[in-house]
Amino acid sequence: MTKASSAVVVGAGIAGLATALRLRARGYEVDVYDPASHPGGKLGVWTSKGYRFDTGPSLFTLPQLVDQTLEESGCNPRDYIRYHRHDSACTYFWEDGTELIASGELDEFCKAAAEKLGSTTERIKEYFSEAQRMYDTTKGVFLEKSLHRWQTYLSKDVLKAIPSLPTLGLFSTLHERNLSFFGQENPKLVQLFDRFATYNGSSPYLTPGIMQMICHLEHNIGTYYPEGGMHAIPQALYRAGKDKGVRFHLGTAVQRILVNGNTAEGVELVDGSVRKADVVVSNVDVRTSYRKLLTDLKTPKNVERQKPSSSAIIFYWGVGKKYPKLDLHNIFFSDDYREEFDCVFEKKQLHHDPTIYINITSRVDPKDAPEGKDNWFVMVNAPADSGQDWEELVKKERGFILSKLSRMLGEDIEQWIETEDVLTPPLIERRTSSQGGALYGSSSNERMAAFFRHANFHSSISNLFFCGGSVHPGGGIPLCLQSASITANLL
Ligand SMILES: Cc1cc2nc3c(=O)[nH]c(=O)nc-3n(C[C@H](O)[C@H](O)[C@H](O)COP(=O)(O)OP(=O)(O)OC[C@H]3O[C@@H](n4cnc5c(N)ncnc54)[C@H](O)[C@@H]3O)c2cc1C
Repeated sequence: MTKASSAVVVGAGIAGLATALRLRARGYEVDVYDPASHPGGKLGVWTSKGYRFDTGPSLFTLPQLVDQTLEESGCNPRDYIRYHRHDSACTYFWEDGTELIASGELDEFCKAAAEKLGSTTERIKEYFSEAQRMYDTTKGVFLEKSLHRWQTYLSKDVLKAIPSLPTLGLFSTLHERNLSFFGQENPKLVQLFDRFATYNGSSPYLTPGIMQMICHLEHNIGTYYPEGGMHAIPQALYRAGKDKGVRFHLGTAVQRILVNGNTAEGVELVDGSVRKADVVVSNVDVRTSYRKLLTDLKTPKNVERQKPSSSAIIFYWGVGKKYPKLDLHNIFFSDDYREEFDCVFEKKQLHHDPTIYINITSRVDPKDAPEGKDNWFVMVNAPADSGQDWEELVKKERGFILSKLSRMLGEDIEQWIETEDVLTPPLIERRTSSQGGALYGSSSNERMAAFFRHANFHSSISNLFFCGGSVHPGGGIPLCLQSASITANLL
């Protein structure tokens, strides 16, 4: 570049922040716009009565991708973020009283899981080796490069992966794969590994078996907690961006991406002013990008036909008591997992016996709750919004959750709730523009979902790009960071 080229990034979600930082490192003058008053999109914060809650993501895997983003932008990661590996990946509870503390150490986990849930230590280890093989074989193809450029298919990663294709679980569902691995006689083990489908907002009864690789990230690579909470992740990228000269315009929405023929010329802001740019990157949900910001362009068929990932109902409860058996991540399983997913994905309703995830960050950082108390982030799977009566559904579901937890923890929980807020799919959509409040963009409930996801670039507008959870390679913090890397490399 002779004269510095200019780039506009629309949206300061995790992928928008990472893309801005990477473009700045490549010499671009970068402006980022977002209507929200804070950076980070879905990674928000709520505080009340001495309790602090991360409102969005709670599980942090592959922290090295945050470090990589900072390092490749010329920053020392440790000047911006510190994180620690958490000893226990999750504590699991079943209605019949079975409990499992899932150690973050693989050997320990396999031994305890075999003792409590059946099968053998060796068989469970074999399952993880298989998951690792899948991850190692495919990450260079599916996660680190654009799937929509022919050059990708000539890379050595692809050529290496081709012979393994029939063994990558593409032709069975995750549940079928888990069932054939552990057998009907070990339903709790099958359920535990089925759960990893929810890490990208899918159903284990529909998503392909290749999703087995997700458990490798949690147990082989580990789960981490950033000092200061999940919100510290976007804050780190935001601060680094500011230090490197990225210009952030929070509280400023983009109204339109300006396109002239085959060129994106910049953006029009809500006040009608125009910001010209050589490159435009949209971090806004791709369907919303086409419907609201690129109204002169046709929404691609793939984008129209893709189904949203699951959404969630989250209660933020300040709980005036500590339950010693609870840890940072806790799961209370449904007794009928298949019916629960049917309910969410087919009937598009909430289930009366939901699997409940409780995240309690005050177990790691005591400052997040008053002494002797805990901050509960209580989440159940929900369908994306398609016009359901959420007020009624939330009221009913709150009752189901309270009675299940009270039953499983042995006392009335409601009496301890000191402060409360709730997040619903329509609220997620209102706050971040994600279609229907989907957590992870589109679902991976189809075998070829990865190929249907929108590319990180526009097929005919050469300087228009896309990053974030609704485009390649998908949702969740690690994949969003990968999408920023792929997008920046495409430029
Ligand atoms: C409740 C919840 C729990 C989750 N749990 C996890 C988890 O445990 N682990 C994990 O890895 N992932 C989790 N996820 C998913 C993860 O949060 C997302 O995949 C990721 O944060 C999406 O980031 P993104 O960059 O695509 O942008 P988003 O966070 O969706 O942000 C998009 C940004 O675009 C902005 N925007 C919208 N319209 C405009 C406009 N017109 N002009 C300018 N800007 C605009 C929005 O304000 C927003 O800031 C969870 C999500 C939610 C909601």
